[in-house]
Amino acid sequence: MYSKRVMELMNEQIKHELYSAYLYLSMSAYFEGESLPGFAHWMRVQAAEEQEHAMKFYDFIYERGGRVLLQAIDQPPAEFESLREVFKQTLEHEKKVTGLIEAIYAAAVEDKDYASQTFLNWFIDEQVEEEKNATDLLETLRMVGDKGSALIMFDRELGRRAGE
Ligand code: MG
Repeated sequence: MYSKRVMELMNEQIKHELYSAYLYLSMSAYFEGESLPGFAHWMRVQAAEEQEHAMKFYDFIYERGGRVLLQAIDQPPAEFESLREVFKQTLEHEKKVTGLIEAIYAAAVEDKDYASQTFLNWFIDEQVEEEKNATDLLETLRMVGDKGSALIMFDRELGRRAGE
């Protein structure tokens, strides 16, 4: 059966996923200001994906006969010290989200809520992907540097990410 505790954690997770969308949109806005349209596009696509994650939880809560209760979303940071700082924060944030997903999973196991465990498997795989993407981008940026033609090439590459 659908555990009440799992439902409450999923309601909170909607907020965390929407905060992720907010954070990445804020990073996208920062990149617009830095004249890096490819980076801005990549983050905008990322923000749209986070909104989809929130809606997956939203739909699942109703599928299980629960009730969605939306909570307040924090204001994201608007300024960043450097390009690499943005992706460092992205990686840190995704690690935090991984921990939150794992905590919901642990509650679902404890409460013998099997359908929620199956649903959460997708998110566990997704978090592996998200952490890998952020790590790879950070590594590439370390090689590319903060300016110059390599950065312009990298910006063009990121601008080709599908979506939005
Ligand atoms: Mg997410």
